[in-house]
Amino acid sequence: MPTTSRPVLRFAPSPNGPLHLGHALSALTGLAWARRLGGRFLVRIEDIDPERSSEAYIEGIFRDLAWLDVPWEEPVLRQSQHLESYEAAAAQLVRLGVLYPCFASRREIAEASAALSAPRDPDGAPLYPGLHRGMATEEIALRRRRGEPFVMRLDMTRALALAEEHLGGAPLDFTELDDEGGQQIILCDPRRWGDVVIQRKDVPTSYHLSVVVDDAAQDITHVTRGRDLFAATDVHRLLQVLLDLPAPLYAHHRLIVDESGRKLAKSARDTSLAELRAVGATRADIRRMVGLT
Ligand code: GLU
Repeated sequence: MPTTSRPVLRFAPSPNGPLHLGHALSALTGLAWARRLGGRFLVRIEDIDPERSSEAYIEGIFRDLAWLDVPWEEPVLRQSQHLESYEAAAAQLVRLGVLYPCFASRREIAEASAALSAPRDPDGAPLYPGLHRGMATEEIALRRRRGEPFVMRLDMTRALALAEEHLGGAPLDFTELDDEGGQQIILCDPRRWGDVVIQRKDVPTSYHLSVVVDDAAQDITHVTRGRDLFAATDVHRLLQVLLDLPAPLYAHHRLIVDESGRKLAKSARDTSLAELRAVGATRADIRRMVGLT
C-alpha cells in the first residue's frame, strides 16, 4: 500500500532526445491527475544510459516543462546519481537466488534466437534463449576472473515461483485506472518477457530495476505513463513483490502517433516541443495537438 496519504505522481523522461508531443501528453496527463487527486508532482530524470543521455537534453526538459506551464518539485531525482540504490536492490535479488550472470554477446544471443525461432516479447524482440542460465559456478568464476563483461538476468521461472510464495496464493496483478474513475484489475504475465536484463553491462541497473526502486523511493502512489509501457508493468509488479515494495496504482495513457500510426520517436525532430515553439506554436496549440482541449 502507498506509504503516504497524499498522492505522489511523477513524470520520468529519459534525456535521450528532445521532448516531443508524446512527452507533452505524458507530462500534462500526470499533472492533471496530480491536480485532480490533490497530489504532489515530481520529475525524475531517467539518465542511466551514459551513451545516450546528455546535459543538453536535461536542460531542454526543464525549459520545455516550464514553457508548458508544468511545475515540478525540487529536488529532481537523477537516476545516474543513485546507482548505489539499484546495486543494493540487485544484491537483494542475488541473495534471493533469482539473478544470474549472462556473458553472451548480442550476436551470440541473436544467432541462438534465430536458430531456435525464439518467440518474441511484447516489444517484438526475440526472447532470450536461456544460453547462460544454469551455468556452472566454476565457469562463472573463471569467466569473471578473466574479466569477461556480463549482464545480470532475472531467472523468470525462479522469480515467479518465489513471487508466488511471497504472495501466498494471491494473484500477481495491478490496478489500472481510467479517466472516468474506473478501476480494472490486470493480471500480470511477466513470463512473456523471458529472462529480462536487470543489470546491464555498462551500468549496474536497467530501466526495469531503476523504475521500480525509484517509484518506491519517491513514494509514488500513481504511475501515469504511456500505453507503450503497459506490458512492462508485469515485470515491474514482479520486481516489487520480490523486493517487498509497495504497489502503486497505474494509469497508462493513449499514445500520440504519426501519420503512419507509429508511436513518435525521439528522433522525429519535427514534433519536438522546442522546434514547435521555435516556429511559433503556443501552449494552447500543443494542448490541441495532443488532444487535450
Ligand atoms: N523513462 C521512460 C521513458 O521516457 C518512462 C518511464 C516510466 O514512466 O515508467 O519512456
